[in-house]
Parts: sequence; structure tokens; C-alpha cells
Amino acid sequence: MQVRDSFYIDGKWVQPSGRKTIDVINASTEEVMATIPAGDEIDADRAVAAARSAFDMWSTTTPVTRGAFLKKIQEGLKARSEELAKTIAAEVGMPLKLSAQIQVGSPIANFGYYAKQATAFPWEETTGNSRVVREAVGVVVCITPWNYPLHQIAAKVAAALAAGCTVVLKPSEVAPLNAFILAEIIDSVGVPAGVFNLVSGTGPEIGEALVRHPDVDMISFTGSTRAGKRISEVAAATVKRVALELGGKSASVILDDADLPAAVKGTLNACFLNSGQTCSAHTRMLVPESRYEEAAKLAVDIAQNFTVGDPFGGSARLGPLISEAQRDRVRTYIRKGMEEAELLCGGPDAPSGLDKGYYVQPTIFGRVKPDATIAQEEIFGPVLSIITYRDEEEAVRIANGTPYGLAGGVWSGSDDRAQGIARRLRTGQVDINGGAFNLFAPFGGYKQSGRGREMGPYGMEEFLEYKSLQFKQAPVAAAVAPTADGVGAGGKAPY
Ligand code: NAD
Repeated sequence: MQVRDSFYIDGKWVQPSGRKTIDVINASTEEVMATIPAGDEIDADRAVAAARSAFDMWSTTTPVTRGAFLKKIQEGLKARSEELAKTIAAEVGMPLKLSAQIQVGSPIANFGYYAKQATAFPWEETTGNSRVVREAVGVVVCITPWNYPLHQIAAKVAAALAAGCTVVLKPSEVAPLNAFILAEIIDSVGVPAGVFNLVSGTGPEIGEALVRHPDVDMISFTGSTRAGKRISEVAAATVKRVALELGGKSASVILDDADLPAAVKGTLNACFLNSGQTCSAHTRMLVPESRYEEAAKLAVDIAQNFTVGDPFGGSARLGPLISEAQRDRVRTYIRKGMEEAELLCGGPDAPSGLDKGYYVQPTIFGRVKPDATIAQEEIFGPVLSIITYRDEEEAVRIANGTPYGLAGGVWSGSDDRAQGIARRLRTGQVDINGGAFNLFAPFGGYKQSGRGREMGPYGMEEFLEYKSLQFKQAPVAAAVAPTADGVGAGGKAPY
């Protein structure tokens, strides 16, 4: 069993002030695989003080310098990728091969991207008699969830460091071990003390102490809508900038001219990935009434391919859910669904032969009413609701008819027709006919799915302020001298 007993603050591994510890549970064996410290307000103060004192130095380093550190972190992640994939497969339960591809592949790509983006970013522009410069927002607290733990950390930390911000990271207490490995990598590549700091613990204790802290300029949060609302309230007292990536209840809208087998297969893939513990999961499949029977049969047949089992076993496509609490929550929703709709496959019982580990069967409900609980609330498990509609107007109304707006899909024989519907969806991302996830396109929510965007240049914008300098005469483009490493603060936008 691993024991993590220190925090990474001001470039050193230090003893926490908080005396309590938190067990980290292996999702498939239900055994304690590690313990981590539960930090308190004093730990929050120390981490913020370190980030504050490093800010002036880090925010005035050149983009080339920051990019070089990010590149080194990327190389460090690559060197420890196997260990990271195994750690996340154990913590989260995602099958090892997928963990390596997604849970580790994506953070590696993100650190590499922001290494380049630091210099490619258009740091300055001129408008009339003003020079408009972009500056780091300040000390950023990143609070992250457990479902794609290192991906969510990288999307924030890499972009914030590239922008010139200093960071305090508080990862999910449910899947925190990957964050400790990242901190070791950051330490090993010589990132200056205080630029990146790691603490751990619960949301209500150290999480809120960080959110309240007057020396913090921004909170970048990914997690539940419930916690996002609370963080917004607490942060309002000091008028902090708050970026929120929250929950979802995304619709896959299948039009009457779609290739139905491809559409149903694509929807199930987008629903069941990571055992449904994906904020952008397509959990509502909208089909024309006339094609319901065909779609329901296809869905049940395809669901049989989603084998459930040991994440380290090699053949399973779905592992366990992350925790006992999550499994129980999902089972409660499945029981609720049995009262509200037709159970087509799956159910609340553990899959056969998998009594240990937090396993849940892939479950599909048919003829779900758009306002049913299982069609409105985020379940965060492998549960699909099939909903019928009469015409396009009704399809759009149903797709938009939840408090969320994170993702979605549209399937049609024509990309143009699909795009017409996609443009009417009140949601941040729409996949047209199964278009692949793009790691560098803006990701974020409409409505109660959040505020702000991550990924790509858009994600870096979140961590920057604008400053306008007015001159008596319009400034010329060469008014800013190149920085010591030969790169002008300005540059051409890559988009
Ligand atoms: P959660 O909200 O319980 O916890 C997320 C993080 O917030 C954890 O680090 C937790 O300790 C912390 N936290 C909780 N309450 C807090 C408080 N009052 N103050 C400060 N910090 C607090 O979410 P979770 O269970 O870890 O993750 C699942 C949720 O995350 C789902 O709702 C999912 O949709 C959402 N999610 C959203 C995205 C996105 O990009 N939109 C991505 C992944 C997950």
C-alpha cells in the first residue's frame, strides 16, 4: 500500500498541518490501495502564499521559457506513462489499454500543445491608439474531479502555466495518486519553487479554504453542478474569476435519414465510455417514433459487446464504477428508471460473476418520457435512455429540454442537415455523424453545464487578463522590443 504523507509546496515536499488522512480505494478489488493527507486551512494558506510569492517572477518569464518547462513536463509524463496508466486504471477502474490511450495520452498531448502555444499565442495587438496586452490573471486554484483525473488536471495546469499563472492544485480525493506523480515530475524538471503546488483533501475543508482565500485570483473548477454552484457563491465574496466545467445530460439526435446501425453504435460508444462516467456522455438517444423498434433492437444487440470486467484482465471494455457511493447512486437511478420506463437490458444487479468491485451492467431504457428523472438528471453510470420524437421541432425541444448543455450528437444522411440541427442545440459541443473528439477545440458548457472553455487556445484565454495601454499616437507594431530569448511578446494567432 502506498502512503502519501506530504504536500508539494514552494518546491519542496512538506508535512501537512492537517492530521487526518483519506483512504484511496481500488475500484475493482475494493481494497485500500493508498492513503493521502487531508489538508486544512493552514495548508491552503501555505500553498497560496507560495504561489503568490512566485507569481511576479513566473508571469514575467518569457513564453519560450514557460514553453520549455511544459515540454519537459510532457517528456516526464511520457517516461512514466505506464505507471500512470496502471495507477489510473486502479483508481478509476477504466480498462488499462483505454487508460493508457485516453487517461494518459490526452494529458501528454495537452502539455505538448501548451508548450507550443505559449509562444504561438498572440500576446499583444493594436487597436486605434491602444496597445492591448494579455497578462496572466494571477494565482489560480485548480479543483478537479475523478473521472478523467489527469486529463482534467492537465487541461487546467498546462494552460495556466503557459499563460504565466502560478497554480495550487487540489485534485479529487477519490482519484488523487496520479496528481502526486505529476507533482514529482514537475519537481524533477526544475520548475521554479512556488509555481506549481499540490495539496489534497476534501472539498468542504481545504477546497473551500482555497476558494475563499483573498490571495487567490481565479478558481478553475471541474466537477458536479452542485459543487460548482457552491464554489461560485463562496468565490463571489472576493469577486474571483470562476471557470466551471460541470455536469451534462447530452442528447444524441438520430434523424430519420441516418444510417441507423452506425448511429446507434456511435451513441452507445459515447454513452458507455468509462462506464458512463463521462461528463459529455450521450445519455439520451432521440429517435423518430417510426424507427423506435428498430433502434431499440439494435441498441440491445450492440450493448452485448460492452463486456464488463477486470480493468487489468485485457478483454473487458468497461471496468467497475469508481466507488461504492457511485455504484449505489447509479443503481438507485436504475431502480427509478424501472418505475418510469421500459427496461430493455441491464438492471440494478451486479453483472454475473462480478460480486467484488463496483461493477454495474450496461443498462438501456426504452420509451423514456423526456421529463422522466432518468432523462433529466445526470446519472454518471452506463445508463442510456431512448426517447422518441415526432418531428425535428420536437427533437430539438427535447434535446434542449434539460438544465444542462455540455455536448451532444446529430446523425443524418447529410452532414448539412445534421449541422442545421446541431446549430439549434444549446450545448457547447456537437458531434456530427460521429465526428471524433478534438482535444484542441473549445470544450465547455451552456446553461448549468458551466461557464468558460477549456482546451486549445480558448483554454489559455481563460487564464489571461486584458490590459489596454493608450498612446497619444497609434502605437506601431514594433513598439515592443523582443524579449531576451529573441521572441517578441507579440505573435501571430494560430487561429
Ligand atoms: P464533485 O463536484 O463531487 O468534486 C469535484 C472536486 O470538487 C473534488 O476535488 C472535490 O473535492 C471538490 N469539491 C467538492 N465540493 C467542494 C466545495 N464545496 N468547495 C471546493 N471544492 C469542492 O465531482 P466528482 O464527483 O469528483 O465528479 C463528477 C462530476 O464532475 C460529474 O457531475 C461530472 O459531470 C462532472 N464533470 C464535468 C466535466 C466537464 O468538463 N464539464 C468533466 C468531468 C466531470
